[in-house]
Amino acid sequence: MASITLENLGHSYYPNPQTPADFALKELDYEWEDGGAYALLGPSGCGKTTLLNIISGLLVPSRGHIKFDGQDVTHLQPEERNIAQVFQFPVIYDTMTVRQNLAFPLMNRKVPQDEITKRVTEMIEVLDLSEKADRKARGLTADEKQKISLGRGLVRYDVNAILFDEPLTVIDPHMKWQLRTKLKELHRQLGHTMIYVTHDQTEALTFADKVVVMYEGEVVQIGTPEELFDQPAHTFVGYFIGSPGMNVLPCEIKGKTASIGNAKVDLVNGYNLTDGQIELGIRPEFVSLSSGKKGVSAQIEAVENIGRFKIVRANLEGHSVNAVLREGEPVPTDPKLQFDASRINIYQDSHLVRVGG
Ligand code: ATP
Repeated sequence: MASITLENLGHSYYPNPQTPADFALKELDYEWEDGGAYALLGPSGCGKTTLLNIISGLLVPSRGHIKFDGQDVTHLQPEERNIAQVFQFPVIYDTMTVRQNLAFPLMNRKVPQDEITKRVTEMIEVLDLSEKADRKARGLTADEKQKISLGRGLVRYDVNAILFDEPLTVIDPHMKWQLRTKLKELHRQLGHTMIYVTHDQTEALTFADKVVVMYEGEVVQIGTPEELFDQPAHTFVGYFIGSPGMNVLPCEIKGKTASIGNAKVDLVNGYNLTDGQIELGIRPEFVSLSSGKKGVSAQIEAVENIGRFKIVRANLEGHSVNAVLREGEPVPTDPKLQFDASRINIYQDSHLVRVGG
């Protein structure tokens, strides 16, 4: 296992990049801890695969360096980096048994036979494949084949890191949850440095200790699931994480009051923001509806029942605001919206304004 340092790392697929938009990966400076579980999360085209390929060695970055445990590996070939990779689709040998497939990466590295037997047996148990251990991979289901793929990555104990590129894409929805939990458990047991690429927030948030959120080639936040929920560093993070995402409302701020059109919202802190686009962010979970006098007037546009919760969409001064209400909570016909002031975040040009910072 190793720590992974990304030093002034950036990549453009163009020979002479001129503007920031020419970079598929904008400059990034970060150290990923030895033994950490990280998820790279973001929509299609945001640069996840570009970053993963730089880590695995399939791509040489046009800027900066990558280091494993302090050693510069920027120009090393993938096979010289000692990493394991698990892809979207199973990469296994159909004519081999489950056991043989799992043993293969270890045999290639000339691991002693008794050690191979021990590790393969353990991995078969961990993956719940004991009943199929001596069956040829050919006859197994897509889920089972992908489990073998995961096992082939995890069976090696000497790797610097294990990289997962959307590994649960082919898995049945009901099995995804099981495998996600299994991966998390394996991370705790084995302590490998793991990097998991996905565009699915549930996968990222359940797997990772730290989630790296990417947007248009930029890492916009690296944080724990709680940090991403409570204090999104960028409006995109607020919108992308959560269901529905954070409400983002253009506003003007004077002291401790935000004005959204004619509606006035109290803030906990005072701000002195004179330029840029100012927005107020509040998660739907912290918006409540009342029929009293307090709060700002809004018109209900839609109510969606999703089991234990209701999502109410209201119109506030021409802007859509979502509120999450618990089952049984009434929806007033002429409601006032109340924002929990302690949960409001303020953004300037899409970036969080940190109070006192
Ligand atoms: P997805 O989830 O769809 O795989 P991603 O987040 O992994 O997307 P990348 O594949 O890293 O994103 O792509 C980032 C940007 O770089 C995109 O605009 C893409 O079009 C561009 N890009 C990727 N590969 C190449 C290439 N070989 N040549 C030129 N541009 C590329």
